[in-house]
Amino acid sequence: MPVFGDGGDSCCLLHDPRCRILLRQTRTVIAEWCIRTGRMYLSPEAKQFSFAAALEGHPVGCVFRECDVHAEDWPQVSALYGNVLAQDAELTLRLRRTDGHYLWCRVMLSRLTDGDGLLTGVLVTINNVHEAVAAQRVLAYRAEYDSLTGYANFPCFKETVAARLADGLDSPYALLYCDLKNFKYINDIYGYETGDHVLQYWADTLAAGCGEGEAFARVSADNFVLLLHCDGCDALSARFYAIERRLAEFEELQSQKFRLEMACGVYWIKSPADVRGIDDMIDRANMAQKTVKGLGGSRIAFYSEEMRGRVIREKSMEADMEHALAAHEFVLYLQAQVDIQQGCRVVGAEALVRWQRPGEGLIPPGDFIPLFEQDGFIVDLDRYVFQEACAYLAARRDAGQPLFKIAVNVSRLSLFQEDFVERYTQIRDRYGLPAGLLELECTETVMVENITKIGQVAAQLRETGFLLGMDDFGSGYSSLNVLKDLFVDVLKLDMAFFENGLTAERNRAIVSSIVAMAKILGMRVVAEGVEVPEMVSFLREIGCDMVQGYVFARPVPIGEFRPDASYTL
Ligand code: C2E
Ligand code: CA
Ligand code: CA
Repeated sequence: MPVFGDGGDSCCLLHDPRCRILLRQTRTVIAEWCIRTGRMYLSPEAKQFSFAAALEGHPVGCVFRECDVHAEDWPQVSALYGNVLAQDAELTLRLRRTDGHYLWCRVMLSRLTDGDGLLTGVLVTINNVHEAVAAQRVLAYRAEYDSLTGYANFPCFKETVAARLADGLDSPYALLYCDLKNFKYINDIYGYETGDHVLQYWADTLAAGCGEGEAFARVSADNFVLLLHCDGCDALSARFYAIERRLAEFEELQSQKFRLEMACGVYWIKSPADVRGIDDMIDRANMAQKTVKGLGGSRIAFYSEEMRGRVIREKSMEADMEHALAAHEFVLYLQAQVDIQQGCRVVGAEALVRWQRPGEGLIPPGDFIPLFEQDGFIVDLDRYVFQEACAYLAARRDAGQPLFKIAVNVSRLSLFQEDFVERYTQIRDRYGLPAGLLELECTETVMVENITKIGQVAAQLRETGFLLGMDDFGSGYSSLNVLKDLFVDVLKLDMAFFENGLTAERNRAIVSSIVAMAKILGMRVVAEGVEVPEMVSFLREIGCDMVQGYVFARPVPIGEFRPDASYTL
């Protein structure tokens, strides 16, 4: 039978009062198994543990039964025993208390032997280390798991991927970098709690979609990485859009008619040559992701070396742009706008910018305008172009040369600057230019999307003597109807109408009705991108006012522009 306290047996340590003090001072619980008496001696504090409360059924020499130790820790204990305790041991394990809870303890088991080295008993000391172990386990958990999603964290993901690829490539993989595009908006509008739920839901969705040998983790905020078994763009796109559809089912936002959108970049690991350092591969997937982040809807992009070249070039352009502006590397070209109703006279020009980049030559606007529209630098560049156009007209005036109208492009971001009209007016006034000489062009899409705001800006522009032009009309999805709601001075027909020589009868009919409608509404019409004389004849017949196209002139450096040129067809 178990005995608590000293048990009156002189062989037990507990008999010694100094020893009892020692145990109290060190908060040590002991259990001593004596082979000679066949009894277990326990200090009083041992009563809290299940092993001490019911010692019946203990195998000889064993202090703990399987039911006294946490199932995960039992293998360490059972490994120590053959018939008897084979050697001294120190374990950290969870002992069950009588209330059913487990307590982390440091347990030392020591063999007691007689003078001949024969085993006479086993002395077990038990110390409570619960708090230290629990704290350490929290740290260990944090080191491996994402506290928000509860799944393996990013460092762990990197280790897993690196380890998997280190053994060679068993099958093709895709490394994905995904970003929730409108996540910031969710946090701002619906609050952080909803934001957290979205991330948890997303993690659950990814976890459910990951199969054997695949992995995922959250990099930070709303960015996730995945390693998937896959070898084809179509198959991967299908999996991506399946995940995207599951996102749309997120209940908390369903009533808001809010759709979560994802941008995803993919780095293929199809052959050993594709295997790079894990950070390099993630960077490449992220690079691909960034190329579609600014586009509407959920998108997936695949990394290529060509993409890398482009991104590096864009980075270098961004690094140089401010200096380039100050160093006048952006140069203006002018393309003539020719009146086709009364002879073929130049009546104006459009200012088109190019970048004269040292060491690289002349870069067309298509290479840098979209980039500057993304990073916001377009506002400075547009203003610069406008100012250069004003400076040019002022110089002509000062030299006594005739003036003509110049159209300048204004991008979406410029147009919606709070002080847009004010600043452009200031620049124009600084050069003392009269009203009606400068036209500001913005695209149909920008205008139609923001019809109310445009209405206000248009009214201000008219008051201050600017002309307003609608560029690329017909390229968007707007109907002729929008024309009656928008007051613009000049309508520029999109080049696409003329690309194939207006062969289709339907195209001719459309162009005719747009021109007729514009005339009724008092707008002037410019046909852009006209390359052949027959087209000019047709446009003249239907009442189009002007043509801007290679058929008359290409854009030329501002200094070479000849406004007095006249053309014949
Ligand atoms: P856009 O405003 O629609 O300008 C017309 C483009 O059509 C110009 O290209 C012009 O060279 C080209 N073009 C004119 N006639 C023909 C033709 O007969 N055939 C063909 N194939 N093309 C013709 P560019 O100069 O390369 O400019 C491209 C675009 O870059 C412009 O399209 C405009 O959207 C943008 N851009 C140019 N300068 C500026 C600027 O200062 N600010 C802003 N925001 N955008 C600019
Ligand atoms: Ca234009
Ligand atoms: Ca245009």
